[in-house]
Amino acid sequence: LFAGEVDFLKGVVAMSGLPADDRIEVCFAGRSNVGKSSLINAVTGRKALARASNTPGRTQEINYFTLGDERYLVDLPGYGFANAPVAVVEKWQALLKQYLSGRASLRRAFVLVDSRHGIKPVDEEIMTLLDKSAVTFQVVLTKADKIKPIQYDALLTQVREKLAKHPAAYPELVLTSSEKGEGIANLRSIIAGIG
Ligand code: GDP
Repeated sequence: LFAGEVDFLKGVVAMSGLPADDRIEVCFAGRSNVGKSSLINAVTGRKALARASNTPGRTQEINYFTLGDERYLVDLPGYGFANAPVAVVEKWQALLKQYLSGRASLRRAFVLVDSRHGIKPVDEEIMTLLDKSAVTFQVVLTKADKIKPIQYDALLTQVREKLAKHPAAYPELVLTSSEKGEGIANLRSIIAGIG
């Protein structure tokens, strides 16, 4: 699906470290522990590509992966650490704002939301930032295997209600389970279809 190499390229801590913006780029954002590393590993088909240990308080990097020769997948640091030092959070927020508002090749953000928890205030903060930056975003529900079919309606209703307030939100949701492989092929083809 992604012709060429799928691999880790580099970790970036400042705008000056970004690779040339000559590829189509999508980014993944989400609260820490939402299942972002697992999803990146599943989408890329590489079991240990994204480091599964996003240790709180560790240096926050924007991680670039090549998705074949034409695309980058960008892993934004997980947000919402309860105990992260203020200075770390502020530095990260500044970089995030610069990145989202200043990256011409960024086509879409995927905002990961845990199926068990729905959209939390901290997710809405990111969504508001994406609105302001005019970056279209699409919600990816993770860990779908953790909820029962009877819980889907309430989850989808909550998510749709919240998204209605965000002009940059893309209406179609993606339901995934990295554990069961559910929705992974769909997400891959969505990414491959972004031009
Ligand atoms: P990150 O902090 O967002 O990168 O999250 P990780 O990918 O490290 O996952 C956090 C925890 O959720 C780990 O214990 C994973 O095994 C678990 N997890 C991730 N994806 C799934 C999933 O699809 N289903 C289930 N049941 N657990 C998952």
